[in-house]
Amino acid sequence: MNKKNNLGWNLDNSYTRLPKTFFSKINPNPIRSPKLIIFNDTLSSSLGLDVGELKKYEGVDILAGNDLPEGSLPIAQAYAGHQFGHFTMLGDGRALLIGEQITPSGDRFDIQLKGSGKTPYSRGGDGRATLGPMLREYIISEAMYALGIPTTRSLSVVKTGESVIRETDLPGAVLTRVAASHIRVGTFQYVAGLGKVEGLKVLADYTIDRHFPHIADENNRYLFLLQEVVNRQADLISKWQQVGFIHGVMNTDNMTISGETIDYGPCAFMDVYDPSAVFSSIDMQGRYAYGNQPPIAGWNLARLAEALLPLLHDDPEQAVGLAQEVVSHFPERYERNWLSGMRGKLGLFNEETEDKVLVDALLRLMEKHEADYTNTFRAITLDKLDDQEWFHTPEFTQWFEKWLARRNRQPESKPDSQQLMQRSNPAIIPRNHRVEEALEAAVENGDYHVMDKLLKVLTNPYAYSPEQEVYAELPPKSFCGYQTFCGT
Ligand code: AMP
Ligand code: MG
Repeated sequence: MNKKNNLGWNLDNSYTRLPKTFFSKINPNPIRSPKLIIFNDTLSSSLGLDVGELKKYEGVDILAGNDLPEGSLPIAQAYAGHQFGHFTMLGDGRALLIGEQITPSGDRFDIQLKGSGKTPYSRGGDGRATLGPMLREYIISEAMYALGIPTTRSLSVVKTGESVIRETDLPGAVLTRVAASHIRVGTFQYVAGLGKVEGLKVLADYTIDRHFPHIADENNRYLFLLQEVVNRQADLISKWQQVGFIHGVMNTDNMTISGETIDYGPCAFMDVYDPSAVFSSIDMQGRYAYGNQPPIAGWNLARLAEALLPLLHDDPEQAVGLAQEVVSHFPERYERNWLSGMRGKLGLFNEETEDKVLVDALLRLMEKHEADYTNTFRAITLDKLDDQEWFHTPEFTQWFEKWLARRNRQPESKPDSQQLMQRSNPAIIPRNHRVEEALEAAVENGDYHVMDKLLKVLTNPYAYSPEQEVYAELPPKSFCGYQTFCGT
């Protein structure tokens, strides 16, 4: 393959300098007739890439995996993971890291092609991805970014011109994913499983250098590493809960060390508030239901702690004690972040001990009345209490009066409080029926306007603009029972 560098690529390959067991060198599989379907101009510019040139024939060849940029040393990363609680050896089965882009401001981002063909970790899979799920990842990851939630991002989706065999023949596609890194809890599990403390140390030091350089000189820096991941995940999951995001497949291989949301397979946004909400067709037991996400994150972090044990203390018992102590703080840290976010959603600046009771009472009422989570906060923010029938019930009126009284017990003015609510409550989320509508137009009819319009309004979810109103509407009744699929 030729390597091109007139497009702003500035690649390093630090991961390839780690032990050889951590990855496999492999080129992407060329595809027949690449066609650029969607491209992220603003992300591209922030990476220092030449937007205009990348969208041209030669640039698209790179985004398709038909060509490599100069400086690229493509690899598939090895990792393991607990999938629905069962430990499995995995690895990038359909993805390739083509390099780490160093941006003009000096930041480092993994550039990964997803759907680029088989790798040594494909385990019988075809290494391919289909257009619908790749566009879905593009839409939802970019919506998450706009919501202010740490996430991997999407640079482009290219249609391959080849069909991929699933239950039916589907159009193939390659997504370019951009991430702070692709180091996962499962990466540590994999390296720990190799059984050499030296290897684990190399991975941990690499991770510290890349994501947490401020702890490099700490005495027990590996314990600090665990602490940092606990903190980032507590922050991330509390943000998911605040917007009603359900990841759907929180396996340990789908949990990053950087604290970014990764792997937009069967995820979905909850409409009616329901802690037991599950959309994924493969999550029969509801392991990854909305209300289970915080404890599952805690469980995953315990798996990370286990992997790190040999680095924490020479004495195994003391190592366990140290790890348990750090992981045990996850629930309270999560709760603190969550409550602080929920205060914002209710326009509260200061703290009172009864705030959690107030928030919980509202959530219980929403659950009882099967109220839409996003639109309830939206209505309270906009003071539109004619919006929903259940707002007229005595129990809601009682709650509302308590909230008004609580809001008055702070020095900030009502307009300030309302502004805080607007910043904290998205006017719109990527509603499942809107996402499906956009995907259907794109995949079935080659019409990308519906998706473009959706992406545009999702760019500023806190705008409360008139054109967002229609996107806040609930799905028609016929849309009930929505299910998501992994898109593998
Ligand atoms: P996921 O459920 O997307 O997190 O994927 C779990 C594992 O299956 C990862 O190791 C993926 O790389 C792998 N995988 C998913 N789809 C495919 C595919 N079509 N071909 C090969 N491997 C795949
Ligand atoms: Mg995955």
